[in-house]
Amino acid sequence: MTPPSPLRVAVIGSGPAAFFTADHLLKKTDIDITVDMIERLPAPFGLVRFGVAPDHEKIKNVTKQFDRTARKDGFRFFGNVDVGTDVLLADLARHYDMVCYATGAQTDRRLGIPGEDLARSHPATEFVAWYNGHPEFQDREFDLSVERVAVIGVGNVAVDVARMLCRTDAELGTTDITERAQRAIAASGIREVYMIGRRGPAQAAFTNPEVRELGELEGADVRLVPEEIALDPLSRATVERSDDRALRKKLEILDTLAQRAPSGKARTLHLRFLLSPVELVGNDRGEVARMRLVRNRLEQDGDRLRAVSTDVHEELPVQLVFRSVGYRGVAIPDLPFNEKWGTVPNQAGRVLSDTGEPVRGVYVSGWIKRGPSGVIGTNKPDAAETVGTMLADAAAGAMLAPADRDPAAAAAMIFERQPKAITYDDWLRIDEAETANGKAEGRPRIKFTTIGRMLSVVGR
Ligand code: NAP
Repeated sequence: MTPPSPLRVAVIGSGPAAFFTADHLLKKTDIDITVDMIERLPAPFGLVRFGVAPDHEKIKNVTKQFDRTARKDGFRFFGNVDVGTDVLLADLARHYDMVCYATGAQTDRRLGIPGEDLARSHPATEFVAWYNGHPEFQDREFDLSVERVAVIGVGNVAVDVARMLCRTDAELGTTDITERAQRAIAASGIREVYMIGRRGPAQAAFTNPEVRELGELEGADVRLVPEEIALDPLSRATVERSDDRALRKKLEILDTLAQRAPSGKARTLHLRFLLSPVELVGNDRGEVARMRLVRNRLEQDGDRLRAVSTDVHEELPVQLVFRSVGYRGVAIPDLPFNEKWGTVPNQAGRVLSDTGEPVRGVYVSGWIKRGPSGVIGTNKPDAAETVGTMLADAAAGAMLAPADRDPAAAAAMIFERQPKAITYDDWLRIDEAETANGKAEGRPRIKFTTIGRMLSVVGR
């Protein structure tokens, strides 16, 4: 069957997965496709804007690529429109042949230990959103007056948070961190930051450039406990069997860091392994006052090594805790959801109902499809897979049956539901204002941290 021309696709979200999906669709030369991207916030780029750390400016260059996609014929952007509230799937089904959700993983996984909800215990994801100027997290309070902080987990988000807590005012002064977060971090009383991994160094989720960077901080020495980075027999056997050069390099980097003598910097970043928090203990004001941990050993579990607790306990007198044990997807209105995995059930991007049947014309891409793993670029092949599925379905005639395929009617519907919707040209004006404000202060940009401020730039 010949698909309708142009094939009209709505992509929900505007982070890497959304932009790579749009780009793969618009690159097709054998079929005419238009993409309307619909984003909840006025600003596009999702986790590139609100997740990538402010001191990782280079990683944000990927937005230049997204901008090229956005300027392609057949692409439109509608920001400040919440699909699920302002616009429902049923509304989109009246105007589009296909809808692809690329909404990411918007919440955090929990530790499930007593004291997790005490004051001064926070999901790392909220701290990240706060220092990155996410409008919905600016009211969060983080008590950085304390001396000792723990970051639970040893993935790249944990590394970001630990590194940001150790940054000096001068280091932060050239980034796009919010002014308030910069002031709070620079003036903080923090002296010790503990990053805690439940397994060993050979199983650490962080990547090599990220851990190497920890050794280059102006304001913090890195400390490791030699016994914790000495490989246990199972890990050593795994490393010896493996041809993973990056893993060997990672262990070398950790060894080098461990051998360094502290140089008396103001803060110390402790990288700890084989420890699991078992309880956050509060003071009489209900704030974290210390953390109880158990030492783990590793046990073979299929092809991975898992942490098993021993009867050895330890306490750390930390007064602030960031839980950084992974993001988690949230259910999307009108779509099936796998609560266990925090993802939308799908087959190569094609959404599946609770009974395993394809949901006609509805797709997923990125973290909501596969879970919160991989780097920005991982979303490119992932999006290609979803687009392949979409095109196969289009060729087979398995699509929605929109009553009104006129692009003007879709735009009218969106503006009727959300009169303050933002177009891509509007965004470019907001972007220009942010970068101009930043230039005056030697920063890449100064982000507007409220939706109202962003809208006022474009007279809404
Ligand atoms: P992640 O890489 O999955 O790391 C999660 C960490 O939490 C792991 O160390 C994991 O240990 C630990 N963990 C999970 N459950 C735990 C529990 N109950 N108790 C103690 N520890 C627990 O997740 P992420 O750090 O949130 O990052 C998400 C993705 O974004 C990753 O793919 C990451 O590489 C990417 N990212 C990349 C960058 C960058 O490129 N610079 C920056 C930020 C994020 P186990 O291994 O034992 O499960």
